[in-house]
Formats: sequence, structure tokens, C-alpha cells
Amino acid sequence: QIGVIKKKTKIYFSFVKTNKPTTMRKNIVAGNWKLNTTLQEGVELATAVNEIVKTAKCDCETAGIAIAPPYTHLYAISQVIDNDKICLTAQNCAAEEKGAFTGEVSVEMLKSVGVKAIIIGHSERRSIYKETDEILLKKVNLCQKHELKPIFCFGEQLAERESGSHFEIIKSQLEGVIFKLSAENFKNSILAYEPVWAIGTGKTASPDQAQEMHAYIRKLIAEKYGQEIADEKTILYGGSCKPANAKELFSNPDVDGGLIGGASLKADDFMAIFKQL
Ligand code: PEP
Repeated sequence: QIGVIKKKTKIYFSFVKTNKPTTMRKNIVAGNWKLNTTLQEGVELATAVNEIVKTAKCDCETAGIAIAPPYTHLYAISQVIDNDKICLTAQNCAAEEKGAFTGEVSVEMLKSVGVKAIIIGHSERRSIYKETDEILLKKVNLCQKHELKPIFCFGEQLAERESGSHFEIIKSQLEGVIFKLSAENFKNSILAYEPVWAIGTGKTASPDQAQEMHAYIRKLIAEKYGQEIADEKTILYGGSCKPANAKELFSNPDVDGGLIGGASLKADDFMAIFKQL
């Protein structure tokens, strides 16, 4: 299962060459399909990813792979993938458990179709759907209640980076939601730093920019929850990550994989990124 850490050192696929130092953390590549694919296209894409995972004989205890298709595809995809190797993930969930909330999909519903993790707080949810820290906290708490793993996203806008306030912004986004969890619940989460200016723009953070921010995030976690929890926390990078730049990004000591949008819609590209873990 995603997030399970069994060994103190990473084991890589035999065909993956890397100089990355060993750590206690699990590396993950997660694909966010957003509002793309029909059911048939989605099942084909998931089947293709599954085939590659099968051939790669991946050690999923140490290198995780997740896909987040649209809601309508989740059950059908759960039937065609190896759910022990690919973490079926939802892109969002309702902030309420049940009741008169037309059009919403609850955490329990998602769990019932095989979902194991949920992306919470993606920048598109924050900016287009005006999801506040208060709403995101409700969603994260529901994930904890139903034992699903939140993949909590946060990141600064371009103007915030340009004005030099990006560290402050990241701190407040963490403190406003995920740092409100108890240490035990915080352990059951994945973080995804996604600078908004890099999402879907083709403009990636440089490896140094990513490392600088990830190291800062880990320092904040250590201050809040202690060094051991900080050392074990998987922190993904998201924002125009593709096969050509994944290796450089992932070779940073504090970058533990990626949340991938556009490049996750082609099985070969997605898996090429995965092989850079
Ligand atoms: C995302 O949507 O989380 C994302 C990182 O998108 P892209 O890879 O397309 O920038």
C-alpha cells in the first residue's frame, strides 16, 4: 500500500540507475488526470499503466505509484488494475459526510469503490472553486476518519514568489490545514508542493528552487512534529514535471517524487517519470 515504509533504505527497480542517497521515505509518482478522458479512454490508460507496472516488477513498498482518474471511472478502473501496486486516488471529495449536498461525492463513497487516497487542496480547487483552509481541513479530517490518505497540495502564486513572500505563504498554508492534525494523523498524509506558476504552464521550478522549498517544508515539519516524522514524510513536487526534467527534480534529497498532471495522460510518459524515482 502507498505510504507504507518497511525498510530504512530504498530499493529501486533493477533498471533504474540513480545516485540518490538512501532515505527512510517512500518515493511516489501520482498522476492527476483532472477533467480528461472518457470512461473508455480512462480504462485504456489505466490498463496500459498497469501493464507497465506488471512488467517492471516494481517493489511497491518503496516506490509507489498512484493514479487519480475522474470520479466516474474509479470503480471500473479498480477492476482492471492491481490495487496492491497502484494506489487508486480521487481528485477531490465532499467536505461533508452525507446528506443534502447535490452533486457531491463523499469519502465513504470513494472508499466503497476502492479509493485509497484523495488529492486535497489542489490549486485549481483553491482558486476556481474557492476552497478555503476551513473546507480543506474538513476534507482532510474526513480522510482520516475513514482511513484514506490525503495528498495535501499547497503552493505559492507567481506574484508571491516574485515578491519574496513564498516561504511565508507555504508556512501559512501548512499551518492552516495539515499542521492542525495530531502527529498520528499527520503521519497518514502525503504532501505535494505545487508552485501555482508551474502547474500546467510548462514552466517548471528549477531543481534548486524545488529543493530549497522542500527542505524548508521538512524543517517546518520537524519544528512541529519532530525530526523523525519529518524524515519520514513524503513530499512530492508538482508543476510541469515531465520525462525530461523528472530525474533532475527527483535527485534532490528532499524531493520524494511528483504529482503529475499533463504528463500522466500518456502511459509511456507517466511511466518514464516513474522510472526516475
Ligand atoms: C497538477 O495538476 O497537479 C500538475 C502538476 O499539473 P502539470 O503536471 O500539468 O503541471
